[in-house]
Amino acid sequence: MLTAARWVRDGCATPVALGRGVGVAKPVRAAVGKVWIKCTFCQGDLFRDREVKLNSSGMELMNFGWANESATGLICWSCGYVHLFVNRDLELYKVKKEDKG
Ligand SMILES: [Zn+2]
Repeated sequence: MLTAARWVRDGCATPVALGRGVGVAKPVRAAVGKVWIKCTFCQGDLFRDREVKLNSSGMELMNFGWANESATGLICWSCGYVHLFVNRDLELYKVKKEDKG
């Protein structure tokens, strides 16, 4: 499954963990600098994060790997709205269950 493969590459899960925990992502909060990111749709502040590759395979074949960029996709935990960031200052903070609510 493509989703599972992505998570392994991102280092978010081991293959062993994927065997029992597919689809169980942990919510994160995100900030750029000191500004917390909120969902533009529902104002929620919990997200799932996914790395999104912006490069094409064609570029890699031609040795233009330096042109590759990856974006961080933040998927709103509540409504699913996807926010895409290409920003190295973007910080993700894992939310512990104890801190919720
Ligand atoms: Zn939302």
